Amino acid sequence: MRKQVLVLLAFGLLLPVFSVSTHPAGEPAWGFFGHRRINRLAVFTLPAEMSGFYKKHIEYITEHAVDPDKRRYATKHEAVRHYIDIDHWGSYPFPEVPRDWTDALAKYSTLKVLTEGGDTSVVFGPGLENALAYEDYRAFFQQTIQPQYYEDAWTCSCAELETLVGVALPACTGGVVVDGFSEYGILPYHLLTMQRRLTRAFEEGDPGKIIHISAEMGHYIADAHVPLHTTENYNGQMTGQEGIHAFWESRLPELYADAQYDFFVGPAQYIDQPADYFWDIVLSSHLLLDEVLTGERDLSRSFPSDRQFCYEERLGQTIRTQCEAYAKAYHDQQAGQVEARMRASVLAVGSSWYTAWADAGSPDLNKLGKEAIAANTEEEALLEKAKKEAQAQGRPHE
Ligand SMILES: [Zn+2]
Repeated sequence: MRKQVLVLLAFGLLLPVFSVSTHPAGEPAWGFFGHRRINRLAVFTLPAEMSGFYKKHIEYITEHAVDPDKRRYATKHEAVRHYIDIDHWGSYPFPEVPRDWTDALAKYSTLKVLTEGGDTSVVFGPGLENALAYEDYRAFFQQTIQPQYYEDAWTCSCAELETLVGVALPACTGGVVVDGFSEYGILPYHLLTMQRRLTRAFEEGDPGKIIHISAEMGHYIADAHVPLHTTENYNGQMTGQEGIHAFWESRLPELYADAQYDFFVGPAQYIDQPADYFWDIVLSSHLLLDEVLTGERDLSRSFPSDRQFCYEERLGQTIRTQCEAYAKAYHDQQAGQVEARMRASVLAVGSSWYTAWADAGSPDLNKLGKEAIAANTEEEALLEKAKKEAQAQGRPHE
C-alpha cells in the first residue's frame, strides 16, 4: 500500500479543475402556497396529545413553512438542502449513492497534498485507483474533515496526512479536501439531521424550538415529494421545457388544491426507520419524474401553441404563465399525481412530528412553558457564520 501511495504522489496526479455550479431553481418548491397548505394540514393528522399544542401555534407553522426558501440564496449550504440531483450519479435505484451521509461525502471527496513547489498531488479521489483503503480514508475523513463541513475550506496538517498514508511527506505544506458531493444536493441526509434535531427539541422541552424546527422540517419533507427536486433537469432546461418546475408545483396546486383536492389523509404514523423512510420518499418522487416531463412534452406538442401561455395580472404586475385551459389539460393528464404528492407530503410531515415526539418519550406538551419561538436554530447560526466568512473573502454567494 505504501509503495502505491508514493507512486501516486510522484506522478502528482492532478484532477480537473473543480467547478462549483449553482442550482438556480427560481421557484420555491410547491410555491409558497403549497408549503403553507401542507404544514397547516399536517397539524390535523396529529394525535390528541399533540394537536392542542400545534393548533395553538398553527399560524406560525403555516407562515414559517417557507423560511428555508427565503434564506435559500444566503449561503451555498442552504441551497443544497432542498433537492438531490440523484440522476447525476447514476440510475434508479442509485446504488452509487451511499445512503449514509459520511459515506456520501467521503466517497466523492478529493484529498490533495499541497507541496512547497506549489504542486498538488491527489491521495484520494473518486474515479481514481486509490492506494488508500477506503475504510482508512473514511475514518480519517469522519474524524478530521467532516467536523469542518461548514468551514470555507476543509484542511488537514501534514502530520495527519503522514499518519494516514503511512509514509513521510517531506515536501508537504498541508492537505486540503474538496467536497464533490454536496453541490448536487443533500436533501435526504438533511431530513435525517432535521428529524434528530426535532427529537432533541422535544427532549429539551423547548416549545419555541419545537415549533420552529417543525415548521422547517415540514418544508424539507414537502420538497422531497416533488419529482423535479430529484433531478438535474429540475426545470426542464435539458429537455426544452423551461418553466415546468413552477407549472407542476405552484401553478397546478394554486388552481386546484383548495377547490378539488381531498386532504383527509388519516392519522400520523410512527416512522420506524426514518432514514429509509426519507430515502423512499425521494426515490418514489424520482420514479414519477418521467410522467411529469414526458406528459408535458406530449401535451405541448398536441395543444395549440398559441394557447399555452397567457398573461395574468398579479399584485399589480403582469406575469406570463400557463393558460388555465393548458393547466387543466396538464392537470387532467397527470391524473391525480399532484394531489397524491401533496397528500403524501401532509401525512409525512405529520408523521415526522409525531415520531420525534414519541422518540423523545411522548412529553406532556401542555406542561411546556411559554418561551418565545426561537428566532435562530443552531443551524441558522452556522449558516450565518458561513455567510460572514464568504463575505469576508469577497466571494459571491451562490
Ligand atoms: Zn425548498
